[in-house]
Amino acid sequence: MSRSDRRDFLKQAGQGALAAGIGLGLPEAVTAAEAKPATAAAAKETRQPWPYPVNYGKENIVEADVLILGGGVAGSHAAITAAKQGVKVVVMEKGAAIRSGCGGGGVDHWHGVFTHPTSKVTPDEMMETIHRLGYKYIFQEYGNGITNYILFNESYPALCDVESWGVNIRDTKDEFKGAEFRDEQTKLLFTYDYDGKHIVRVKGGTDIKLAYYNEMKKQGVKIYDRIMATSLLTEDGKQGGRVIGATGLHTRTGEFYIFKAKSTIISTSGPDGLWFYSAELRGASTHACPNSSGDAVSLAWRAGAELTMLERSPMMSTGGFEYPLYGYGNANNTWYPCNMVDSNGKEIPWVDRDGKPLETFSQRNHTAPGQKLFWAGGRSAREIAGPSLIPDLSERIAKGEYSLPLYADLAGVPPVERRAIWALMVYHESKGRIIYETYQKAGFDPDKDMLQQPLSQGMGPRQWRGGFVGAGVMFDWDMKSSLEGLYVAGEANYAGGDHAVAATTGRYTGRTSSRYARTAKLLPVNRAQIEAEKARIYAPVSHSEGIGWNELRAGLARIMQDYCTETKTETVMNMGLYWLKSIKEQEAAQVCARNPHELWRTVECFSRIDTCEVIFHSSLSRKASCRAINFVRADYPQDDPKEWQKLVVLKQVNGEMQIGEKPLDYFLQAPYASTYAENYRKHSGLSSQAAQLGSKEVESHV
Ligand SMILES: Cc1cc2nc3c(=O)[nH]c(=O)nc-3n(C[C@H](O)[C@H](O)[C@H](O)COP(=O)(O)OP(=O)(O)OC[C@H]3O[C@@H](n4cnc5c(N)ncnc54)[C@H](O)[C@@H]3O)c2cc1C
Repeated sequence: MSRSDRRDFLKQAGQGALAAGIGLGLPEAVTAAEAKPATAAAAKETRQPWPYPVNYGKENIVEADVLILGGGVAGSHAAITAAKQGVKVVVMEKGAAIRSGCGGGGVDHWHGVFTHPTSKVTPDEMMETIHRLGYKYIFQEYGNGITNYILFNESYPALCDVESWGVNIRDTKDEFKGAEFRDEQTKLLFTYDYDGKHIVRVKGGTDIKLAYYNEMKKQGVKIYDRIMATSLLTEDGKQGGRVIGATGLHTRTGEFYIFKAKSTIISTSGPDGLWFYSAELRGASTHACPNSSGDAVSLAWRAGAELTMLERSPMMSTGGFEYPLYGYGNANNTWYPCNMVDSNGKEIPWVDRDGKPLETFSQRNHTAPGQKLFWAGGRSAREIAGPSLIPDLSERIAKGEYSLPLYADLAGVPPVERRAIWALMVYHESKGRIIYETYQKAGFDPDKDMLQQPLSQGMGPRQWRGGFVGAGVMFDWDMKSSLEGLYVAGEANYAGGDHAVAATTGRYTGRTSSRYARTAKLLPVNRAQIEAEKARIYAPVSHSEGIGWNELRAGLARIMQDYCTETKTETVMNMGLYWLKSIKEQEAAQVCARNPHELWRTVECFSRIDTCEVIFHSSLSRKASCRAINFVRADYPQDDPKEWQKLVVLKQVNGEMQIGEKPLDYFLQAPYASTYAENYRKHSGLSSQAAQLGSKEVESHV
């Protein structure tokens, strides 16, 4: 295919979608302005002067004991914990750590608190339940026992950490006194399961990143904002060698950073927005942080670390086609268990785990007789299943028993519960605060008004795949990757997680990485590796003509939409790999950046190309369908056959891909001990008992 044909292909990537009336692909603004050849003359006509001094290639050298890539929830918690161990900690953050990342807007529910004073279930009992029920289908399908065990042991202490840094986690002003979800002893407010009490409503969650930021400063952590990690540095520059630091690109000045470190933590979150791209549609509909470009996968892949579960194929739940999450009528997640009514005001009934109708609102938050706890939402085994709206609602709508549209009837909810859903949960649920404030300003009154559930909800193109949690860097009981000196925390780990998983794995790697740093030396960087990286990332500014990053990203999304879809086959995926190679060798090699902003967005596209490549290879390697991870292969239709119940593990050795495998419970097999408690004792730097104490007590155990 000729170069001009390829250009047409990229254009179609946008225009085809627009023609189809779904508005995805290249936004008009991009085709009109950005896609123009970026000649110096054209640029002169349209551009505002760049407001920062530009020094492409200028080197800055920073040294650290522990280097943290990504100052989100996990990175910040890791930084503070490591600094408290007495090592020199540096954070490299692509945005501004004070508000960056998915948790930048806040957190309303904090999961897995099994060690607070009134908890009825211990972490070990919870792990035992997971194993008995088949843990691979609970929490995160094909998930990981290490992160679960860390979560259950350290979630409450991590919450106490953030409390000690200034986040209000309790109802200290007694605003919810007497509410069923308030624990009188601890003044903690719980959500979903008022008996099991394992998820806390964080009363002051909206400013959690501010608290992290201030504490990092207090602990002497050096924060380098607006620097994108572009590569890992390895001993002697060899792929697969010990990681000895990372390179960074300043997103405003274009300067080059060399970070030398004894140990390095990747906490740059998971990839998002690989299947769709539109500058117009994303906005508030973007669920994850827009800086989540999958750099963890790319950084680890190029350095030779093992990756796994990239074939996971999540459904598209957000991404420009839907109303902003938390901003429409529903009864799940943040809005659990809101009343739902039909268009005639008829209430939709709730049932218990066995389908028995529930008479009162309160019953929606309580366990069934004899049940210790329930897990709200999603697929759960009966032992931990919770109340829900009638499961046959769609059929009953089709028969005419209920008429569309449905509405969330906040006004019909008991006042204290209404306040908890709207003013506590929605307000603190990260970007939910925007919804809260915008709706209130527009006159929405939760005491009177209902909120419609849009009929189109959940109707993004189903063949496209969605936000990516639960795929990435492989790790051991130190949360160390397969490379010496490289650790992983938060959603960059292959098992994904949530806010509490990010905080607890950050806390954990803060300890394990600093333990390693205390025994390791700073090594000299390899000059050839530095020069190769500079050549790679600065190439786009040396081009005076070519497509821009918007077009490149839209073209990549089109490849994923067309060749890595809901149902996969070997032939189709190989076509996708062909196109990826083509775009990498042609358009990406010619892409043009006119300023540091365009440059880092372009380098993100390079990361995305790597991530897409690994996704294709992982998907080709799993030769069986696995509906639990939404992975459907038309050429291997058998669902989850026993011989494929394993992790497919990929890495690069001398630039060549190697495919391996690991058992799903590799973390309980040799060389590890056969129990969680024993592994935790050996690796965590804490005994389980010490881990379960609040932050002050834990410090005295370290
Ligand atoms: C709207 C919303 C609401 C949510 N609500 C909840 C909730 O109530 N409860 C809950 O448990 N979970 C919630 N989550 C999920 C939770 O926020 C995430 O699980 C958590 O933030 C993950 O932490 P992390 O540190 O892995 O990633 P992040 O917090 O996203 O941090 C990653 C950081 O890495 C930076 N970065 C990325 N690439 C690079 C690079 N190359 N170089 C340097 N820095 C880089 C990013 O800028 C970011 O600061 C919510 C998420 C969203 C989006």
